[in-house]
This record gives sequence, C-alpha cells and structure tokens, in this order.
Amino acid sequence: MSKDTILVVGGAGYIGSHMVKMLDEKGYNVIVYDNLSTGFEDLILVDNFIKGDIANTRKLDKVFSENDIDAVMHFAAFTQVGESMKNPQKYYKNNVVNVYKLLNRMLKHDIEYFIFSSSAAVYGEPESIPIREYLPRNPINTYGKTKAMVEDILEDYDRAYDLKYSSLRYFNAAGADESSKIGEKHDPETHLIPLVLKTALNEREKIYIFGTDYKTKDGTCIRDYIHVNDLASAHLKAMERLFEGESSEVFNLGSGKGYSVREIIEKSKQITGIDFEVEEAGRRPGDPPVLIAESKKADMLLGWQRKYSLEDIIRTAWQWHKRNQRS
Ligand code: UDP
Repeated sequence: MSKDTILVVGGAGYIGSHMVKMLDEKGYNVIVYDNLSTGFEDLILVDNFIKGDIANTRKLDKVFSENDIDAVMHFAAFTQVGESMKNPQKYYKNNVVNVYKLLNRMLKHDIEYFIFSSSAAVYGEPESIPIREYLPRNPINTYGKTKAMVEDILEDYDRAYDLKYSSLRYFNAAGADESSKIGEKHDPETHLIPLVLKTALNEREKIYIFGTDYKTKDGTCIRDYIHVNDLASAHLKAMERLFEGESSEVFNLGSGKGYSVREIIEKSKQITGIDFEVEEAGRRPGDPPVLIAESKKADMLLGWQRKYSLEDIIRTAWQWHKRNQRS
C-alpha cells in the first residue's frame, strides 16, 4: 500500500472529511489542517489533526518542515453564494488571498501537487447545457469569482513554477458516507437536500421552494447532484494521475443528470416515507436556472466511475440526518 503523505486542508468539513476517510482507507498518511471555523472536529476520522489557519504562514511552514508532504488537497473555502455577495471581503481573503499564501508556502517547500476544490459556479449562466469544461467562465457571484481567480493563479504557477494541479469543478455535492459517521453538517444549513431532510425530521416547519417560474419543466431550478464519496474518488484519481506525471487539468464533477427542486422534494418524501409541508417562495438571487455537468473528461482521463444514484444520495443523507437528529 502507498504511504504518501497528503495534507488535507479543510479536512474537518463536509467534503474534506469524506476525502480524509477515503485516503486513510487507501493507505495514505493523512494530515488534517483545519481552523474549525466551519468544520467540526468530530468529522475527522484520523488521528493526525493540526488546528490551524492557512493564513498562518508560520504554522504552515512548520507543518511543511516537519512532515514529508507529497500533495496538498484544499477544501478550506467559504461556500455560501448569498454570503459572498453580502461580504465579498471575507471571500476574497479566505478563498483567494489565503490560498495564494498556501501555494507560496508549498513552492517554498518544493511540494509539487495540489488538488483544488473549484465549482460549477465559475460558469455562471452557461450558454449551453450540459456544461463542458471549455465553455467560457463567467461567474455571476463573488463565490464563483474567487474560484475562477484561484484557477487562474494555478495556471500561471504551473507554467512558471511547474506546480501540478487538478481543478475540480463540483456540481451539487450531496449524500453521506454509508457508515453515517460523517455527513453533511453546516451551520447554518442552506443546501436543499439537508434542509428537506431536516423538514422530514420535523426540525423545520416546512421547506420553501425558491422560485417556481423558471423556464424549466416544472418551473423550479435544476441541479446535478453528485455523491460526496464519488467526489472523493475523483480527487483520489486526479491526484494519482498527477503522481504518474500527467499534466494539470480542469475537470467537471457531476453525474450528467439534472433534477428539479420539486423532484428532489418528491423523491425525499418517497425515501423517508414522510409527508411534510412545502411552500412556494420567490427566487433566491444568484441562482442559475439549470446546471448540469458533462463529466466525460473526468470519466475518460481519470477513469472515474460514479457509484451512487440520486436514490443513494438521499438514502445515505437520510441515514446520516436521522443519526444526527437534534434531540
Ligand atoms: N433551494 C430551495 N429551497 C431551499 C434551498 C435551496 O428551493 O431551502 C433551491 C435553490 O434555489 C437551488 C437548488 O435548491 O435552485 C439547490 O440549492 P443548493 O443551495 O442546495 O445548492 P446550489 O445549487 O445553490 O449550490
């Protein structure tokens, strides 16, 4: 088994914690670096945890000096679109300036490989669906702009300093590990599937549908939901591909299938067996009507195979939410 050492920055968060578990199971040495600003210590399933901020370059230098790190995976970004519009300073600082600092520390310590959590938000309102990687990036919110900026930095750092990276543009991450030991936990929660399931658990009175007048089949927004462990397996493959000497690339990570908000609510009612109150509300600013990935590039270059269907996503998320029910 491989014994490369991977620093997972943001490993106490939702996607990071699933990545940490998978890397550990594959035999990698995993070090989690997280400031716990939005992550949770109980989601870290490995022993090697360093509480720290990526803005703290001295601490990063210490981590890089004391450990023989082969690659860095970055999950430590703020991710709320609405908040990014209200408080862009917070987003540019953490999602751009701090990543720039991290990359510079990596260069100083000769760490060559970087796996970056990018987002479908870089596309904005794409001119065609499904979205292919070569479509122009045109983010319509600050969050998406921060992701596009880091992608640009990476491109230049690869050219100038030979830093090898994969930018992984996630569509809608959802679901939980089958063990139910880790899962989606945000405070506050803003995402559709966890909010729907919390409504089924009676932790919320009702679920609001944000916009019913979109030009889609049932008037509600369509998204491409991808299981968090499928995302993690793509990261693993992207990293191993770089280790084999392949070039830096950008990949979409989605399922290629789109589901409307109403469909998610209906499927959740079926899977949980619980009926709950749904209310139609106005549009949420910054929401593109349809986002569906074309992920053939990841399928072909990474040999990526998705294991989880939408039913699996809702089922595993439901198991996790039941287990972590507010008492
Ligand atoms: N959404 C909704 N009600 C909610 C939360 C989300 O109708 O309580 C909609 C949202 O407007 C979007 C879709 O569900 O069209 C997915 O939203 P989410 O925040 O989960 O992910 P995003 O696509 O914004 O990354």
